[in-house]
Amino acid sequence: MNLILLGPPGAGKGTQARMLGEARKLIQLSTGDMLRAAVAAGTEIGKLAKETMEAGKLVSDDVVIGIISERIDEPDCRDGFILDGFPRTVAQAEVLDELLVQKNKTLDAVIEIKVDDERLVKRITGRYTCAKCGEGYHEEFRRPEKDGICDKCAGTEFSRRKDDNEETVRSRLTAYHTQTVPLIGYYGNSGRLKSVDGMLEINSVAKQIEVALTEL
Ligand code: ADP
Ligand code: ADP
Ligand code: ZN
Repeated sequence: MNLILLGPPGAGKGTQARMLGEARKLIQLSTGDMLRAAVAAGTEIGKLAKETMEAGKLVSDDVVIGIISERIDEPDCRDGFILDGFPRTVAQAEVLDELLVQKNKTLDAVIEIKVDDERLVKRITGRYTCAKCGEGYHEEFRRPEKDGICDKCAGTEFSRRKDDNEETVRSRLTAYHTQTVPLIGYYGNSGRLKSVDGMLEINSVAKQIEVALTEL
């Protein structure tokens, strides 16, 4: 099964992609994670993307399409993947549809996670992740069971994203509303869209997604 998780920054795409990936043995493909890895490694793509990401704007369609196209050819994607943070523009969605046809793959569903803007700012400014395994946490909404120790890997180092500050969040939200929201119409018209209430707690959102998938 191949899925897209669609939603604004901080909606819970990464959190749900990780849970769903584990439950259904699907590979999580986050363009944000891939771009951050490229920035950290100082590759050509990383150099191109760094400033744009720090400003909370979208990296060019060509760059992200190139990354995703190569990644879904990898053997681990054969049995299914979850796209987290891609596509983010109608142009990306159109190319993705073409790529999937060429690669003989299907898109089974697009799951939209809906959350109000004001909640998103709180979600993002309180977000941090385990530096070792990437598990996501939140100062208020998702604390590790034991303070300072990752539930998943017992790691004790955590990191925060440079773009997770209030000012950059506002420009990321603007980018979402102007460039990404049109995808809801794009996928809605093709009957592939399922929407869930992302304002509820993490496990309730996961349940809604499971229900949506069993209806397919
Ligand atoms: P995205 O990948 O869409 O940007 P994340 O999955 O990283 O979002 O979630 C953003 C922050 O909000 C994280 O700190 C995460 O722990 C927290 N979070 C995710 N889903 C929920 C939820 N349903 N309720 C409360 N907090 C959540
Ligand atoms: P969020 O948690 O806010 O949804 P991501 O980790 O998905 O953030 O993305 C972080 C940044 O990486 C974005 O603000 C953007 O600059 C860049 N990015 C990620 N995916 C894409 C994409 N599909 N198209 C363009 N830019 C992207
Ligand atoms: Zn960890």
